Amino acid sequence: MAGKGPNPGCMTAPVPCNTSLDLIGNTPLVLLEGPSKAAGCEIWGKCEFANPGASVKDRAALWIIRDAEAKGLLKPGGTVVEGTAGNTGIGIALVANALGYKSIIVMPETQSREKMDTLRALGAELVTVPAAPYKNPGHFVHTSRRMAEETEGAVWANQFDNIANRKAHIESTAPEIWEQMEGQIDGFTCAVGTGGTLAGVGMGLKEFDEKVTIALTDPHGAALYEYYACGELRAEGSSVAEGIGQGRITANLEGAPVDTQFRISDEEGLHWVARLLREEGLCLGLSSGINVAGAVELGRKLGPGSRVATILCDTGFRYLSSLYNREWLEAKGLPVFDWLR
Ligand code: PMP
Repeated sequence: MAGKGPNPGCMTAPVPCNTSLDLIGNTPLVLLEGPSKAAGCEIWGKCEFANPGASVKDRAALWIIRDAEAKGLLKPGGTVVEGTAGNTGIGIALVANALGYKSIIVMPETQSREKMDTLRALGAELVTVPAAPYKNPGHFVHTSRRMAEETEGAVWANQFDNIANRKAHIESTAPEIWEQMEGQIDGFTCAVGTGGTLAGVGMGLKEFDEKVTIALTDPHGAALYEYYACGELRAEGSSVAEGIGQGRITANLEGAPVDTQFRISDEEGLHWVARLLREEGLCLGLSSGINVAGAVELGRKLGPGSRVATILCDTGFRYLSSLYNREWLEAKGLPVFDWLR
């Protein structure tokens, strides 16, 4: 597909949709020039920022809500409650609005102001809690479960352990990537928040071709790199990336077909966030930069001529007061992008 002149996507209008929910998924795939050169092979990015809620989590939100309806748990006028770093909440708020449900979203205070403002703007009821370890009952996940139990007509989305999440990627993201790459794909990698994307795309692609290499790209401060490398959940360092970094095997991760793993620093992720913006005009969040760094590692491992895909998880517009802010970067001890100095 590469080097064939104008992108056919630019000349073909997408299929019209009958409802706004059909706008979720069917995102474009783009060849990333800088990462491809760095890896010596083709690195492709799945543009999940093109979803209506501007992140990969719209898919999980739609599948989780449809699953709750199908199981009779969510009735007309009901409420969807979820604990989230923000993007799943945005997806849930939009899907809930479209289907006539209310949404209550619980978020740790450490997440970006833009995500909180967005959730309020969408009409979700936003509850913020102090960041706490998972074993603490005040952790945002446990708080959201309790709120769902205490709210009449509410369901708890439970994205971490509800496998309707990874089903979204088995049934939509993986077949889209397979089709867009015309079955010519050697590797896929991404980082883990719930694990829905990695496990779901991994399982889905393996159904098409079990030889596709599935790699975990783990940020510092997460425990999965060690788990897949030597069977022990052990974290090292820390990361400011939002939405990724897991310390346990969620239900979504159980049975994930992970063949190899990389550990990527925030600095490496930021390097690609900066280059993709300045050289390719893609404004992304840090998890996308970390994914691309992992994809470059995977491409180098698989060798010249290989074709690797990764996820461009969300839009950088969600992080104007953090990642794209000089004072914030300095306060975190991170390199400041040249053009912000
Ligand atoms: N990147 C961002 C920005 C996210 O919000 C999330 C979801 N938490 C992820 C990556 C990871 O996706 P998943 O939950 O499917 O592992």
